[in-house]
Amino acid sequence: MISIQGKGVSTGIAIGPLYFYQRAKSEIVRATVKNAEKEWERFKASQEKAIEQLGKLADKAREEAGDEAALLFETHQLMAEDLDYEEAIQGLIEEEFLNAEAAVSDVCAQFAEMFASMDDPYMQARAADVKDVSSRIISILTGAVQGGIDSDVPVILAADDLAPSETVQLDKSKILGFITEGGSGSSHTAILARTMGIPAIIGVGDQIKKEYEGREVIIDGTKGQIIVDSDDNTRKVMLAKLEEQKKTREMLEKLKGLENKTKDGQTIRIYCNIGSPDDVAPVLGNDAGGIGLFRSEFLYLNCDDYPTEDYQFEAYKKVLSDMGDKEVVIRTLDIGADKQIGYFDLPKEENPAMGNRALRICLNRPEIFRTQLRALYRASAFGHLCIMFPMVTSVWEVREAKKMCERVKAELTAEGKAFSNDVQIGIMIETPAAAVMSDRLAKEVDFFSCGTNDLTQYTLACDRQNADLGRFFNPHHPAVLRLLKMVCDNAHKNGIWVGICGELGADLSLTDTFLSIGIDELSVSPRAVLPLRQKVRDTNVAQVRDEVLSSLLGDKTQLS
Ligand code: PEP
Ligand code: MG
Repeated sequence: MISIQGKGVSTGIAIGPLYFYQRAKSEIVRATVKNAEKEWERFKASQEKAIEQLGKLADKAREEAGDEAALLFETHQLMAEDLDYEEAIQGLIEEEFLNAEAAVSDVCAQFAEMFASMDDPYMQARAADVKDVSSRIISILTGAVQGGIDSDVPVILAADDLAPSETVQLDKSKILGFITEGGSGSSHTAILARTMGIPAIIGVGDQIKKEYEGREVIIDGTKGQIIVDSDDNTRKVMLAKLEEQKKTREMLEKLKGLENKTKDGQTIRIYCNIGSPDDVAPVLGNDAGGIGLFRSEFLYLNCDDYPTEDYQFEAYKKVLSDMGDKEVVIRTLDIGADKQIGYFDLPKEENPAMGNRALRICLNRPEIFRTQLRALYRASAFGHLCIMFPMVTSVWEVREAKKMCERVKAELTAEGKAFSNDVQIGIMIETPAAAVMSDRLAKEVDFFSCGTNDLTQYTLACDRQNADLGRFFNPHHPAVLRLLKMVCDNAHKNGIWVGICGELGADLSLTDTFLSIGIDELSVSPRAVLPLRQKVRDTNVAQVRDEVLSSLLGDKTQLS
């Protein structure tokens, strides 16, 4: 039996075979083949497999986001069997005896250049299609695994680290748990694991060895413990814990339908954070009151090219209509920092967390912003939408973003397209500047939602991605908590509501603090809703408020 200690970032027990994440090999080996006919057959088999994969992706997209979403994959299917494309590859294989992967790569470069040089923007955009289709065929030829998991049974997935773009593309039905060598608790991969309700352990370094692949592993995401080849006794203990976990869930189930009301009658809204339209089912399953943060950038991370207005519209419409009359806060694009997307072609930055990201990209590239806002407003006709801007630091940014909303509404009105006139506009408070300026910002918007992951990072000048900074990245730091109180006070003075959508919202050791300072809404991962409801129902705010506030402010005289 081998026992490994890491840092648990998503609770729960999981048991299953260990599987190492497989990354696509990007290097293409060039070779001369002896048997061109056999090489051509190799190409044809991989082409056929690519078309089959694309068909499945089209079906999945249609099911999740409608016909328009499926169109992209269907276009890729047509591209994969395009006669000119195929003949050019055949020429290189049969006449120049080039190996199939190099032939596909050369033809891809030639076609992509040809498309990119055309005047018609539609044809220019086909360059990205041919690149995407070719890389799929090359992956099949080289044996690289699309989506990282090639297993028939669900596994405990191990990786050095996973980028958000890799995590979103994983086949979730195949994952029982995550283990990563590096990573940090507030990285987006850890956040996604919590959203998916899957146990996850990070920071195990080189303790998890390739030779363990295929062997049974038990992980305890609460303790950060990993056991490979457990002995009978340990296995029994872990299975008992798993059973206990199930019983706790059953007990929490009884809280469904009950109010989030403290013993002394104060209520708070408990909403959920999601990253995809698929996440709505666990939101409703856990009886959340709404969605407090839909990280819309995950839609972009899941695409190989800018998602079209219609594609986004279908996805937002699905979330809004599935949520019925419940509030849904959709955050506009928040890429940059650790969430990099190739097709945005953003220049490499020395300090990406403080660079061109989120609202800054939207204001600098208004066409991208406009497309998203049009999709959002069109979808607003199907539910209760709130739009939220991330990474705000100044009043002028909010005004410029709001002007863009007005322009989009005017366009839709002129086009006779329906939208709701009741869309609330809010901002994330996740920079110290926004917190300090919250008295002014509150006059510009309908609500605030505090992004404590970034607020902690920027307030403490402490990189949220850096696993070595562990104890320095302290979201409980009084500087962060005092800013939250300041934001809350400023919001209420100006008659707007304020929530928390960072990971801190689910921290039960701070629930009494959030209730005491008057936070109106907490947005957490679906699995955290019922434990949070339990905590709220067990709290008597009147009894704890004075103590909480005096320890927060350090001086009782400041309370009044
Ligand atoms: C945050 O910063 O707290 C937040 C909710 O946004 P993200 O984690 O996506 O940066
Ligand atoms: Mg953030």
